[in-house]
Order: sequence, then C-alpha cells, then structure tokens
Amino acid sequence: MINRQNSEQLFNKAKNLFPGGVNSPVRAFKSVDGVPLFIKKGDGCRIWDEDDNEFIDFCCSWGPLILGHNNPKVRTKIEETLQNGTSFGAPTKLENELGDLILSNNRFIDKIRFVSSGTEAVMSGIRLARGFTGRDKIIKFDGCYHGHADSLLVKAGSGLATFGTSSSAGVPESFSKETIVLPLNDEAAVNEAISKYKDEIACIIIEPIPANNGLLIQTKEYLQFLRKVCTENGILLFFDEVISGFRVAFSGAAELYDIQPDIISYGKIIGGGLPVGAYGASNEIMNHISPMGNVYQAGTLSGNPVAMAAGIAQLSECLKNDFYTDQEARTQAFVGKINAHAAVKGYTFEMFSIGSIFWLAFSDSEAIRSAAEIRAESMEDFKKLYAILLDKGIYLGPSGYEVGFVSAAHTVEVLDQVAADFCDALDTLFQG
Ligand SMILES: *Cc1c(COP(=O)(O)O)cnc(C)c1O
Repeated sequence: MINRQNSEQLFNKAKNLFPGGVNSPVRAFKSVDGVPLFIKKGDGCRIWDEDDNEFIDFCCSWGPLILGHNNPKVRTKIEETLQNGTSFGAPTKLENELGDLILSNNRFIDKIRFVSSGTEAVMSGIRLARGFTGRDKIIKFDGCYHGHADSLLVKAGSGLATFGTSSSAGVPESFSKETIVLPLNDEAAVNEAISKYKDEIACIIIEPIPANNGLLIQTKEYLQFLRKVCTENGILLFFDEVISGFRVAFSGAAELYDIQPDIISYGKIIGGGLPVGAYGASNEIMNHISPMGNVYQAGTLSGNPVAMAAGIAQLSECLKNDFYTDQEARTQAFVGKINAHAAVKGYTFEMFSIGSIFWLAFSDSEAIRSAAEIRAESMEDFKKLYAILLDKGIYLGPSGYEVGFVSAAHTVEVLDQVAADFCDALDTLFQG
C-alpha cells in the first residue's frame, strides 16, 4: 500500500471544512479504498501527491487536460494574460479570439455563448430549447449525466415513458415531472414517449458519447434515428458534448458521426484547465438569448480573459494536423494490448474505447450500450483493481463508472509501460 499519511491528515482537516471533505463528491474515494490522494503537482502525464507518490494520470482532471498537466504553451498564454489583470466584466478581445477559433472550425453552430461550467452550459441550453419551442418537457436518457441543474437530476420512474423522479433531495417532483427519462439505445421507448407527449417536448438531450456512467457507445444509426424523430416532431436535438467536444474530434461527436444537432453544449477541454463552458446553435436559435432575445442568461465571470487565454492556447494545439488521429492511435494501441492479454488469459474484462476515452468493464459483452447492462457487482472487481493499479503508480478516476482519458502527453513509451503494468495488475486480480 502506498503511503498516504499526508493525504490522510489533509483529508481529516478538509472534513471539518467541506461536506465529506471535498468540493465535488466523486473526489471522496467513496467507491474505492482509503482516503483521497491530495495532489500537489502535475506535469505532462504525471501527477504527484502530498506524500510524494508519483502516478501516470488517466483522470486528467476528469477530461479537460487533453494536453496533459502544466502544458508550457497553455501556461505561458495564461501568464501573459495575467499581467493585465484577471477580470473586467466588459468585453475583451480574447473572447473574440476563442469564439472565432471555435466557430471558424465548427460547421455545426453559428453562434456561441461562454459560461463558466458544463452544468451552466447545459442548464442554459435547456432554457433556450424551452424558450425557442415554447414547450416545457424534455427527454433525457438513463446513463447520461448533464451536470447538476434541477431538471437534469432526474432518474427513470417506473414503467416506460413515465415522468422521472428526482435523483437528488431538493429537486421538487413538480420539476422532475417535466423530464422524461428513457433507456439508451431503445428506439421504441423514444417513439412511445413522443407519441404520448408529442407537442409538449422541447428537446431530446443526450451525451452522443455517454461517458459519465461507463462508456455507453451508441450506434450511429441510433443517433441518426434521434435526429430524424426530432426533425419530424419539431423537437430540438441537444448534444451535450461537455466530454466529447474537442475530445473525439475538434467538433466532437457531431463531427465524428456527421450529425447536425440543434443545440450543443461544451465544457471541460474548452477552457484549457480553467473553468469555461459554452453552448451554441444556429443564428436562428441563438438569437433568442438575451440581450437579443427573451431567454435570459448572464454571468459575472463569463468569458473570463484568463480562462479564454487557456482555452485559446489549448484548442490551438488541438487544431494541428493529425492531433486527433494520433490521440486515437495511441489510445487504441494501449487498449488493444490490454484487451489482447485479457482475452488470452480468459479474464472477464474488456476495455472499451472511442477516440482517447476508455472505460474498464468487467464484462464479456461485445458492446454495452445502456446503463442497465452494467453489472453493479463488477464494481467490487474495480475496487480491487484500483488498489493494485495505484500501487503500480497508475491513477484513474476513483470509480468504476468513470472513464479514463489519454492526453497528448501520454507518449507511446509511457503507454507501453503502463499497458505492461496494467496486464500484471489484471493477473494479480484474477489469479491472486
Ligand atoms: C462534466 C459534464 C457536465 C458538467 O460539467 P461541470 O463543468 O462539471 O459542471 C455536463 N455534461 C457532461 C456530458 C459532462 O461530462
């Protein structure tokens, strides 16, 4: 077991300061053993904790750090910008620069609005969908996470096409009544809900690459089906690309699958490691946002210049030739080695991946496309494997429902070494 003395002390202190000792719940290490590691430094693909343990990091701040930690170009751009102050609450040239960088390389949206988190982006996009259509209900899918806004903290009720029930205390049932929760990868369920509530549904929101509850890769045909039924019924198709945007391609899953959604939300990578979210759509839809239109949305720190600077530096790197093919090639080689080993040994284990996202599944299935297909018992195996991996200096997000990320700083050499260590860890897990 790695030494966690300093982390433990810090966590004990933190528990007196923050609920559960953390400022975001999944950091609390509730689904794995021991106290959370307090991180003091990151560089490239590595992080160091307060006990000076070194890890290869596949959490990458839950996705934003596609260039790895402390990227010199991002850091320099932030430092330069800082010389002029941190926030003005007035327009800056940097907002134009990031907006232009995104819009001139993204054929799916005409206009964008910057906010400060993924939650805020999705929440605002939902309001826009409702304001634009004049309808109140939304459809979301079991197994997709869209941040913690009230209307999205809703889980499936009983039976098909019924209203959801809140998945958090504090969300009135009267709000969750406006959210219909359906299983992923189930066209009949969507058809049934639409025929029942046809003229009341503002939008269907989906993570086109669901990556917050395992990695539930959908078929292109299913996503095309959603596009079609939305168009036929005057429903907006909302792609929540907070994870997939700038990750699987510069323009995210919309580009990867070549599907035109009506509204798209971004977050994570867009801010280069600083807090930025955004939502975008056609001119026609975006013109409904204040101050042009009557859908209100505002933010004191929206378009913050330092955060814009980080986004500009990071996304400029992502736009370089072969950035995404290279990310995918390294990830596939890494995942392929581990899967080949698991297959030869006959382990009930498979890593699923798309682009530079991967997920550890203790499963023999060819594909896992809905939340119900994830075996809850497999989380015990994850917990054991997690401890073995930490000992080997491999850091993942501390939950078996979370995905891992490969950054540009994870070189072929590093990934080869990690794949070998990972195979050893599987041997330890399955053979004792
Ligand atoms: C992370 C995430 C969010 C929430 O973003 P925050 O910045 O954590 O508020 C929303 N949707 C998806 C798909 C996400 O992955």
